[in-house]
Amino acid sequence: MLLTFAQAKQKILQAALAAKPLNSEIIPLIQAHNRISAEAIISPINMPRFDNSAMDGYAVRMADIEKSTTLPLSATILAGDDIRSLHWPLGTCVRIMTGAPVPADADAVVMQEQTETTNAGIRFLEPIKSGSNIRRIGEDVKQGSEVFAQGSCLTIPTLSTLATLGFDKVRVFKQLKVAVFSTGNELTPLGDSLTGNGAIYDSNRFTLKLLLAQLNCEIIDLGIIPDDPVKIKQALTAGSNQADLVITSGGVSVGDADFTKTALAELGHINFWKIAMKPGKPFAFGQIGKALFCGLPGNPVSTLVTFYQLVQPLILALSGYPQTALQPLSFKVTTTNKLKKSVGRLDFQRGTLQTNSNGELEVTTTGQQGSHITQSFNHANCFIVLEQEQGNVNAGDLVTVEPFNALLK
Ligand code: AMP
Ligand code: MG
Repeated sequence: MLLTFAQAKQKILQAALAAKPLNSEIIPLIQAHNRISAEAIISPINMPRFDNSAMDGYAVRMADIEKSTTLPLSATILAGDDIRSLHWPLGTCVRIMTGAPVPADADAVVMQEQTETTNAGIRFLEPIKSGSNIRRIGEDVKQGSEVFAQGSCLTIPTLSTLATLGFDKVRVFKQLKVAVFSTGNELTPLGDSLTGNGAIYDSNRFTLKLLLAQLNCEIIDLGIIPDDPVKIKQALTAGSNQADLVITSGGVSVGDADFTKTALAELGHINFWKIAMKPGKPFAFGQIGKALFCGLPGNPVSTLVTFYQLVQPLILALSGYPQTALQPLSFKVTTTNKLKKSVGRLDFQRGTLQTNSNGELEVTTTGQQGSHITQSFNHANCFIVLEQEQGNVNAGDLVTVEPFNALLK
């Protein structure tokens, strides 16, 4: 039975939810980029740690300013100074630098540019608002508060906040173990010469390994497996014994040498194997032992699209990402050209999203969209998502686009 894309994705995410969560490990913060935090992060300190100055300028008391707009200077505070022994007589002001601790009885810091140095002291040229230019303790992060929830992706800004709080280690989920192999008698390893006129290079396994590395998976490369049911079963068994997820390319369609689906049925369980999507109609999903299984279609564009749209959310969910974070960003823009679309499958065409001379977003197709046209991804920066029941699209019509995320960078 042909599932809709949405049904297929839901089944995949349900399987991820049912899978055993990954164990966690503590790693140095510097190695944690793009890993997923395995626990909520509670701040051990207030940020800022103390009231401090947002400007280079002068700390004043409002009571003094109300009496005189010129105050003699009595001290200077630099960033890093300890002000416990500061002597600040009434009726004077204090020179203070950005990031320096603000004395408890200061009401405001006045930026240097709004003052003038005179013989009698510092003259304040503009009205002063109480509280201005003081960065308050805990204003950014309160001690004891949750900074990030469990399941947060440790991006560069996230890691930067952790560094601000003094963390040098973080508890993350272990990397997902993914076994990958290609099937096909025609496949030749990169670097070897092509012999016989039916031979092609095994580009899919190369692409899949790049994608898996980008998603921080631990890769178990099982190589090229010929179209031989026994060898495919051996590889599936080896993969499922070692990995959390087994990914193959090729051999899931209805051809005479498409053995992957049958092997899956014999060794484990097929959840589904056909989706009303284009490219990527044959896509087998199931389970072998404790490992989940994704059998991707062999055409390189189909491999890439099904990986992006279905395997990526599965890997993120299995890696500890909250499922609520997996909904892709999409919106409607006009297409600058006609798009060929046959009714019956959800299309993920490739397009280039750009801003036109009126400052409006529009999308242009990358041209031929066949599942063997790898060039259709070149210059593309988004999917043009055309609904299952939609037919041909005219230039100027609104279409849904989904910008590529960092996976394809
Ligand atoms: P299949 O899904 O096995 O029927 O293969 C569909 C098409 O994809 C055929 O033209 C294959 O030659 C091609 N193909 C299969 N596997 C790969 C691969 N690993 N790299 C590049 N092309 C492939
Ligand atoms: Mg094949």
